Amino acid sequence: MSKRDYYEVLGVSKSASKDEIKKAYRKLSKQYHPDINKEPDAADKFKEIKEAYEVLSDEQKKAHYDQFGHTDPNQGFGGFGGQDFGGFGGFEDIFSTFFGGGGRRRDPNAPRQGADLQYTMTLSFEEAAFGKETEIEIPREENCGTCSGTGAKPGTKVETCSQCHGSGQINIEQNTAFGRVVNRRTCNVCGGTGKHIPNKCTTCSGTGKVKKRKKIQVKVPAGIDDGQQLRVSGQGEPGVNGGPAGDLYVVFHVRNHEFFERDGDDIYCEMPITFAQAALGDEIEVPTLHGKVKLKVPAGTQTGTRFRLKGKGVSNVRGYGQGDQHVVILVVTPKKLTEKQKQLLREFSEISGGSPDEQEDGFFSKLKRALKGE
Ligand SMILES: [Zn+2]
Ligand SMILES: [Zn+2]
Repeated sequence: MSKRDYYEVLGVSKSASKDEIKKAYRKLSKQYHPDINKEPDAADKFKEIKEAYEVLSDEQKKAHYDQFGHTDPNQGFGGFGGQDFGGFGGFEDIFSTFFGGGGRRRDPNAPRQGADLQYTMTLSFEEAAFGKETEIEIPREENCGTCSGTGAKPGTKVETCSQCHGSGQINIEQNTAFGRVVNRRTCNVCGGTGKHIPNKCTTCSGTGKVKKRKKIQVKVPAGIDDGQQLRVSGQGEPGVNGGPAGDLYVVFHVRNHEFFERDGDDIYCEMPITFAQAALGDEIEVPTLHGKVKLKVPAGTQTGTRFRLKGKGVSNVRGYGQGDQHVVILVVTPKKLTEKQKQLLREFSEISGGSPDEQEDGFFSKLKRALKGE
């Protein structure tokens, strides 16, 4: 998550037009071009700007980025690391740890983007395959409606903190053995906000924020897979000092299916058939996500033989076609036989002359030679 938001990189809003994006890119690429700009980080900035433009100027890439953010859905969890799925449907403020404590201090009055939120959604196998529209409810902070997020009682003003003069920090000078040392600390009067509110809003107690449960429509794309995530732009926590809202990341957990297994866009299943079906050939019915399909099993089919049902898999989540269903044949050896069945099999065995492929130079012939030490 160290990567900066592409819109932020180009300094444009998420609703910026193609022209606006182009203009912003031209301006910034001139400003940071390594031939012109000799600042040490100009080359990196230039690269970042170029990358952001490459994505945002391409309609398809842009749409993908708007939906998924920096994390490629095919890379699964990306920056979230090994989350466990203990609390399904749970919710946590993943980025709050990045604020406060350590790191570079920022101007407390500068607009800041709101925190991103993460929500885990559990889907059935079919829901993941076909997608669905659903509504989720997330607890999140919103700007207080009474004071519009300022924290001041309506009609009163927010003042600048008199101790830190709005910077949110104070210098503490200390005499040590090494001389005078100046330590910057968070202002203890305003708690780092740089503001003083003489008449606090009673709804939010001066914080400017209220906790609300917000309902959000989420369109789960067909073909989403376990561990992938979806970005719902602007549905995170509200920004600070007029900054943009954060994003909501919906992380998906897909339940196992009792018959199908999924690998990417392909689906696998095992179909048991009898020895007689395998030997004589048959037409069997195979369940797929798209309904029953008839499959011709040719005579002489071995256990483990794989058949492909083209297009019977899952739609690619990025719209790149459709997966297949692979059917793995399992020849089942009967465990209980009637006397008549046993007799017929003995007869069969006698006619066949013992080993399965005596006539051919196959595996059993080689095995026989190996046993004789030839
Ligand atoms: Zn308020
Ligand atoms: Zn202060």
